Amino acid sequence: MFKFLSSEPLHQPLDAPTPVDETTIKCTTCYMCACRCGIRVHLREGEDGPEVRYIDGNPNHPLNQGVICAKGASGIMKQKSPARLTQPLLRKAGSARGAAEFEAISWERAYELLTTRLAHIRATDPKKFALFTGRDQMQALTGLFARQFGTPNYAAHGGFCSVNMAAGMIYSVGGSFWEFGGPDLERAKVFVMIGTAEDHHSNPMKIAISKFKREGGRFISINPVRTGYSAIADEWIPIKPGTDGALLMALLHELIRTDTLDHALLKRFTNAPQLVVLDEGPREGLFAFDPNPEKGPPGDGRNPHNKLIFDKASGQVLNAYPEGIADGCDPALEGRYTLADGTRVAPSFQLLRDRVASCTPEWAATITGIAAERIVALAQEMGHAALQQAFELPIPWTDAWGKLHPTTQARPLAFHAMRGLAAHSNGFQTVRALAVLMSVLGTIDAPGGFRHKAPYPRHIVPNYRAFNSPEMIQPNTPLNAAPLGFPAHPDELAINPDGSPIRIDHAFSWEHPLSAHGVMHNVITNATRGDPYRIDTLLMFMANMAWNSTMNTMAIREMLNRKDEQGEFMIPFVVVCDAFQSETVAFADLVLPDTTYLERHDVMGMLDRPISEFDGPVDSVRVPVVKPLGECKPFQEVLIELAGRLKFPAFTTAEGGRKFTGYPDFVVNFQPQPGIGFLMGWRGKNGDEHLRGEPNPKQWEAYEQNNCVFQYHMPKTMHYMRNWNREYLDFAKEKGWRQKNDPVQLAIYSDTLQSFRLAAQGKAEGRQPPEHLRERIDTYFDPLPFWYAPLEDAATDLGSYPLNAITQRPMAMYHSWDSQNAWLRQIHSHNYLNVNPRTALAAGIADGGWAWVESQWGKVRCMVRHSEAVEPGTVWTWNAIGKADGAWQLAPGSDEARKGFLLNHLISEELPMRGTPSGTVSNSDPITGQAGWYDVRVRIRPASPDEAGETFPQMDSMPTVPGVVGKAAQVLRYFAGGKKS
Ligand code: SF4
Repeated sequence: MFKFLSSEPLHQPLDAPTPVDETTIKCTTCYMCACRCGIRVHLREGEDGPEVRYIDGNPNHPLNQGVICAKGASGIMKQKSPARLTQPLLRKAGSARGAAEFEAISWERAYELLTTRLAHIRATDPKKFALFTGRDQMQALTGLFARQFGTPNYAAHGGFCSVNMAAGMIYSVGGSFWEFGGPDLERAKVFVMIGTAEDHHSNPMKIAISKFKREGGRFISINPVRTGYSAIADEWIPIKPGTDGALLMALLHELIRTDTLDHALLKRFTNAPQLVVLDEGPREGLFAFDPNPEKGPPGDGRNPHNKLIFDKASGQVLNAYPEGIADGCDPALEGRYTLADGTRVAPSFQLLRDRVASCTPEWAATITGIAAERIVALAQEMGHAALQQAFELPIPWTDAWGKLHPTTQARPLAFHAMRGLAAHSNGFQTVRALAVLMSVLGTIDAPGGFRHKAPYPRHIVPNYRAFNSPEMIQPNTPLNAAPLGFPAHPDELAINPDGSPIRIDHAFSWEHPLSAHGVMHNVITNATRGDPYRIDTLLMFMANMAWNSTMNTMAIREMLNRKDEQGEFMIPFVVVCDAFQSETVAFADLVLPDTTYLERHDVMGMLDRPISEFDGPVDSVRVPVVKPLGECKPFQEVLIELAGRLKFPAFTTAEGGRKFTGYPDFVVNFQPQPGIGFLMGWRGKNGDEHLRGEPNPKQWEAYEQNNCVFQYHMPKTMHYMRNWNREYLDFAKEKGWRQKNDPVQLAIYSDTLQSFRLAAQGKAEGRQPPEHLRERIDTYFDPLPFWYAPLEDAATDLGSYPLNAITQRPMAMYHSWDSQNAWLRQIHSHNYLNVNPRTALAAGIADGGWAWVESQWGKVRCMVRHSEAVEPGTVWTWNAIGKADGAWQLAPGSDEARKGFLLNHLISEELPMRGTPSGTVSNSDPITGQAGWYDVRVRIRPASPDEAGETFPQMDSMPTVPGVVGKAAQVLRYFAGGKKS
């Protein structure tokens, strides 16, 4: 039960409802999850200003078209949450972190404390400030703040979410799923969803799937668990976690064996025919290129246009462009050749062919648990959909080399994939395998296949280098590059001359070089250890890193409280900005109360993560529909205020004054390049320019008058084949979405990865990995996709821990956010471990029985539910239903604390590794640093009768912090329709 703090009902349920004409409607954007649907908030006048009466979907919004989910409609209960923080809080002197003993302070005191501390850090050693954020939607601002501060220690949640999906796809096809692209279910005939639960792109995906199925499409779900979208799939193919890569390699084997390929596309629009050097040496495994400087510089992963091909028609080696794509030329996809200078070469597709030769369906069957015959049939079904069921749309387009294509070729085979593939230490190469599979069937940006969303596709590799110059970390100086980016070569790593990491999370180091979203899950461990150095201040925004947003939860909580020999905390100052009394709030030195999404301005724009549709760019905003509760302030405003007080150059006028009055002013007037701002709609002095134009002082009003969304419809000729579509490429460059207008050839073979491998092998000049990481880089930076067992397997006695354990985000809640939501809480107040009956009964555990779940890292006690919707080798549960006692204003003894549990206790943030200073390395993908959430192996056994009744571990109850709302009883009374008290 919620805490009872007041007997005053919020509203009188027996009174007549507010007449409709007394209700006002304001449009804004939902943030009950990250999908960003358009909503209408119905308001009525209360004693203290407008109050939310109810929320529904906005029918005029392109994303959700009026659809709203249970979470979105429950936003009113987030607004009325008893767990709302309302005042800045300072930890009481002498109290322990975690004890949640605070005194309320004014914002001015909070600003003074922060400004004094941050100004000192910035003037002495800026990297001692670390800013890490959770699932926020304002990374363009937080990233800019870190860069202006001068610290490289910044990232958002992507490193522990799905960076493997983003990076694996972007390094292969220039775009990825969800915000960056998705399945074209309007034209697909077969839809394969692999490793996806019901989370990303939720409402739009539901709308699309229902239409797809009504029109006779076939939906295949490949997943260890059949929940969410999979529940309505025509076929569920259970698979063992972490083995998707093996399945994809076997599918490639079958497609290549049976020559079920889009040859024309492979030859013209991918690097499949380009010749790879086979001779040992510094060029080994890289593409051969024409040394004529007029043909462009040597390939560096960012300039693919001077490679060579072998023309079967003339029997000659030719430049790939434009000669290799001229009429009459027939680039070879197979064979081995010798260049005029004696260099031995082969088309990269030949190397792929060689790679998959041993990846037979029988081989994959032993790894995935899927019968070989089913794999063969699946390959046939995919090939049939993409090639035999293909059709053409009467849409002409011109490719990057000027060839007019009178029609657009549809490939009606669509995929969707997400964290199930990504959250493994083999996820990057698995996603590469998926991208290559989609490419060989010609489905990239084709009707019915995978379609990009602006500003994607990006270049391969995107032209965003992460900050990588240690000498540029200087007092009172912004960084010369953004903290995050896409490395294309060892020279772009964020390492010191001795090869050690520059960043506190070791991102962009030799440990995981392509960590495009940072490695958030190692920040507290590394900072506590002083590896590679100690920091002073850790600012966390919307990141519950003392609970579900971390692995090894109990140890992390201890680390946050750990002191050095002088009695100082290993992390001297912890700042937490959150709207709710989460578990992590208890560990803060300073708490900054954030607003809800209904109380602030927000931007989902092209500089960060827009909500673009397939047919054109879309951005959206949030506007305040009610005033902030208590003294809550939007974190955006806090950052703008701090940037002004700290006199960051981008936030300060030439005269030394403040450039921006606040966040709305900043959004309108800040331009990273002329004419480009946070929002692309209604630009220009008069608001009559779009995509690019001068700042418009009335831009916010324009969004408010237009459903808080701007959508630009591109002409049909720019809807497809955008990797190579001349009209689109020129347009994208002109609008500032891309730096160049050159085509984006699909990377069947990744010379970028090979450049790291050559360094590891000591064959290339320049930066080389430290000795203990050479073999790791050599192994995993394979230019062709391959499957390997998740790294944790090698550190695990698989006989003792035979089961995979995974989590899923519950569809009624967004991570840890919604246990304080009186409506949603009723759906999941506690969780079970779902186990196949065969597995559970073999372990002697009854349905509903209590059991121990043990990994080599820890153990939890929980209740078990028998479920046929999980493959027998896997157990799973909902993420973040279990809560620490007293957190989120849940009363001591609530079901969330006593019956709910976190799987995180079983997962280590590190794995053993010889040679590193700590003897460990992040439990992550060795390429991207993606957290290996789903790699943990466990065993189960029944709990004894005297152990039943309560989950393990249990926490000391978190007390109510000053200023927290705590009015749950009112909420329940009103909405239960009870009588007046
Ligand atoms: S899917 Fe997410 S953004 Fe859309 S209505 Fe539901 S909670 Fe809101």
